[in-house]
Amino acid sequence: METKDWKEKLLYQPKNGWERTDAGQEAAIEDYCRDYKAFLDAGKTERLCVREGIRLAEAGGFKPYTRGMALQSGDKVYLNNRGKMLLLAVIGSETLDHGAQIAAAHIDSPRLDLKPNPLYEEAELAYFKTHYYGGIRKYQWVTIPLELRGVVATTDGRVVDVTIGEGDDPKLVINDLLPHLGAEQNKKTLAEGINGEQLNLLLGSRPLAGEESDRVKTAVMKLLYEKYGFTEEDFISAELEAVPAVKATDIGLDRSMIGAYGHDDRVCAYAALRALLDLEGTPKKTAVCVLADKEEIGSDGVSGMQTAAFDTFMEDLCQSQGVEVRACLERSFCLSADVTAAYDPNFGEVFEKRNAARLNYGVGLCKYTGARGKSGSSDASAEVVAYTRRILDEAGVVWQMAELGKVDAGGGGTVALFMANRNIDTIDAGVPVLSMHAPFETVSKLDCYMTYRAMLAVYQN
Ligand code: MN
Ligand code: MN
Repeated sequence: METKDWKEKLLYQPKNGWERTDAGQEAAIEDYCRDYKAFLDAGKTERLCVREGIRLAEAGGFKPYTRGMALQSGDKVYLNNRGKMLLLAVIGSETLDHGAQIAAAHIDSPRLDLKPNPLYEEAELAYFKTHYYGGIRKYQWVTIPLELRGVVATTDGRVVDVTIGEGDDPKLVINDLLPHLGAEQNKKTLAEGINGEQLNLLLGSRPLAGEESDRVKTAVMKLLYEKYGFTEEDFISAELEAVPAVKATDIGLDRSMIGAYGHDDRVCAYAALRALLDLEGTPKKTAVCVLADKEEIGSDGVSGMQTAAFDTFMEDLCQSQGVEVRACLERSFCLSADVTAAYDPNFGEVFEKRNAARLNYGVGLCKYTGARGKSGSSDASAEVVAYTRRILDEAGVVWQMAELGKVDAGGGGTVALFMANRNIDTIDAGVPVLSMHAPFETVSKLDCYMTYRAMLAVYQN
């Protein structure tokens, strides 16, 4: 054999996904991404993602699960955990002691939450105080249009939906200093240039008539009262989230990418959900899709991936077949579907080129995540990685290996360890993202579609 043939035979040479797709697939990619963009626009918060997820699931024949419900193979059910986490299952032809095929993603994204006592007036301007949620770079959140989404729960039992800034509605904004007066600020580090207590949302500037104090604040509160029927004290029991007021849009002259708020991790959540809805026929093993909340702050709480709500759901499904849940979990497989960092030539120094995920090279498999020597990672076994490679190859999925940055450059985690800790073989996989956690993140359409195809392959194996 010639050297060239040896090279072909022996060396690993990944190719750009666009060189591995045909015209038929290009149309499928475009169709899929159109629907994904609509999901993003409908799902700017975890609650809205659950709502949209349920709407899509019900349209696909899924029924709400209630404990004790008799389940047949082929049945499609969902469980809405407190409006913030969604669990869905398609019951397989094999009983659950053969294990389940699980995809777990998260639907919460970094954002600015209102504080419990958010409203104030200063210099005749009205503001909301915020407390950021998840890992944000604070300087990115100033001077961009923001909208407010969420709920206010009142003591008389109402839960009022609040939507401010949608479509042609007025927007909110956090202001920054003008460069003319920025000499001192310019000397600060990026992390300190804007601090947490400066992330105050400008709400209004027009006072009510009279001589009282706080007339601008009162004017704003009056508008909120007239529209939603709550008073300032009700902010105490509210969950209001400021999110970028921007729609998902194509990026690049070739329209090969999507820019949007919240790709992390709605890009994998949508893939996991959509693949479950698109399953044809009854899968062999029960297919489970988990869309969890609170990943960005550690996956704790009743709606995060560490919640017993997942275990309870699995137990209930198992019990309907007379199966012990522990017998199910130890034979289950989970794809922890979360985004990874895409190699960015603008910041090449933080990546290790040979192991970084690249745009358009498909869904990125991460054997491990974590930081400082893989700490906080479940580190999938060689056997689990081999199994994943096999099922993706068999399904013709374009995939790549991915590592989040250079050794000791930083790091990050996902829900993978919480699944693996439950005695479920788990591996991370997801879409490579540029500007991850920024108010506007960028992904490749091909990678989005290949992640969806990867989820299909998981459910069908
Ligand atoms: Mn994530
Ligand atoms: Mn994240």
